[in-house]
Amino acid sequence: MKYVLVTGGVVSGLGKGVTASSIGVVLKACGLRVTSIKIDPYLNTDAGTMSPFEHGEVFVLDDGGEVDLDLGNYERFLDVTLTRDNNITTGKIYQSVLEKERKGDYLGKTVQVVPHITDAMKNWIESVSVIPVDGKDGPADVCVIELGGTVGDIESMPFIEALRQLFFSVGQDNFCLIHVSLIPVLGVVGEQKTKPTQHSVRELRALGLTPHFLACRSAQPLLENTKQKLSQFCHVPVGNILNIHDVPNIWHVPLLLRNQNAHDAILKHLDLLSVAIPPNLQ
Ligand code: ADP
Repeated sequence: MKYVLVTGGVVSGLGKGVTASSIGVVLKACGLRVTSIKIDPYLNTDAGTMSPFEHGEVFVLDDGGEVDLDLGNYERFLDVTLTRDNNITTGKIYQSVLEKERKGDYLGKTVQVVPHITDAMKNWIESVSVIPVDGKDGPADVCVIELGGTVGDIESMPFIEALRQLFFSVGQDNFCLIHVSLIPVLGVVGEQKTKPTQHSVRELRALGLTPHFLACRSAQPLLENTKQKLSQFCHVPVGNILNIHDVPNIWHVPLLLRNQNAHDAILKHLDLLSVAIPPNLQ
């Protein structure tokens, strides 16, 4: 199984869900089978009881799971049918760990965030990623994981640690980290600012994860010198800096990625270049 992790920095509502779904679309167009997992670090077990005014649409899956609206994006973009387990929340993880603790499964051990909660997160990701979601038999080739919230939030720390351990156990060829970040332009200066992204990458690196790709959200396309600066200060090759500027319709985002050959770079990173890329993506 190959994992593509999408994290976000600087502010929430940046478009991590749209970016993760669009990456799934371009990988699927290369002939790969793609599944997805959305991680929501909140304590609610699911989105069913959350106010739509605060949280947005509650998406109801075929199995009755009431989940985050990003799973709706995944189903629509990737033409898959997800299960309630494809949406992991802190609430679900704690519930499963506490149920095991009450049954005595930890055999007298002190139950702790590390390793028990982080192990439960890792095991959940590994077991859900192999569930077929496209009507075919056998596991998908790639699992796109979106980590909700913003890197540095206290709530997402155990997930970051679990994902760091997962990365270490599956290795560089099987794990690709795409960090979605904001490149603002200050009105008076009129310059694309890279500092917020530099800080969020530093935060991620302090937690043991280094991004392989940056997906930069900006109002206008990124300038060449902005890319050079990001590359130099964030330790990411220029070719792996993707620009997802504002578009009138989110269905344009997979095309933006294709036009920047994001699929090629991701396949190369994941050692999947043997995949026969169709002529319209070459
Ligand atoms: P997150 O998962 O980071 O909270 P979402 O993927 O839900 O963010 O996107 C937040 C909002 O931004 C949505 O309304 C989405 O349609 C919009 N959006 C995302 N990417 C773009 C883009 N490139 N251009 C215009 N709107 C976008």
